[in-house]
Amino acid sequence: MMYIDPHIHVTSRTTDDYEAMQKAGIVAVIEPAFWLGQPRTKVGSFQDYFSSLVGWERFRAKQFGIVHYCTIGLNSKEANNVALAEEVMELLPLYVGKEGVVAIGEIGYDDQTEAEDRFYRLQLELAKEVDLPVMIHTPHRDKKKGTIRSMDVSEEHGLDPGMVIVDHNNEETVKEVLDRGYWAAFTIYPHTKMGSERMVEIVRQYGPEKIIVDSAADWGISDPLAVPKTADLMLEKGIPEEHVRMVCYQNALKAYGQSGQMDEKDWLEKEPIDQTKKHGGSTVLRGGQKPRVDNDSSNIIEN
Ligand SMILES: [Zn+2]
Repeated sequence: MMYIDPHIHVTSRTTDDYEAMQKAGIVAVIEPAFWLGQPRTKVGSFQDYFSSLVGWERFRAKQFGIVHYCTIGLNSKEANNVALAEEVMELLPLYVGKEGVVAIGEIGYDDQTEAEDRFYRLQLELAKEVDLPVMIHTPHRDKKKGTIRSMDVSEEHGLDPGMVIVDHNNEETVKEVLDRGYWAAFTIYPHTKMGSERMVEIVRQYGPEKIIVDSAADWGISDPLAVPKTADLMLEKGIPEEHVRMVCYQNALKAYGQSGQMDEKDWLEKEPIDQTKKHGGSTVLRGGQKPRVDNDSSNIIEN
């Protein structure tokens, strides 16, 4: 089985993680632009971060056999630094058209402040203008209200729900998100409410249409193998293989493929791993390490 993890902050992860992900069957990842734990103080920090999402990290993933895409946006938390947020908004148009950018995101609400609302709306307009899908981050506090508000505002701006992926859902939000025609993504964090067990029940109850599983693994306690592990559990619990394939692979491809930037042939027909390659003069190797060079595509995991 092939998997896509359509929400993972691989910049924060190690090469061991990349190797484990590839072994577990992950063929592609989407890395949403977000905050980094510590607030940024200069627009230049955003610029370098965006450049690394479309540049170095894309290259680094490829060195471990994984195709990397990203989303570009101003996250809701940092939208609250209004002066800086205004500068970041001016940067976004320079990045949204780059190769591998599959959506505007992750955007939406954190504390549901006025500033968050303002920059969320501006970015919905940007998404419409450049015809890219939107990845919505729903708040962890007051989730239900924040989720409904995200959809209401998106509709106010005339976005097609089929172009919008609402992430971090739970049992309280899923029904309305699906009923209104949105993609409903679920983040599987270890030791939290939305663990793999709950995910199995959601797929059993709502079926696989428009449901997407992701790890949102980052620098916090999280699991870059959450997607394949959840898929295994679903199979073990009797969810049909085709349904597992939809929620752990196909739906993400369909939703983000609408960008025109993500295609199955990107991994089915990719070049073999060649760790002798460089990006801007840098490699993933350190002194004396032997590069991995696969001479054929035999590392592709059979579907
Ligand atoms: Zn995230």
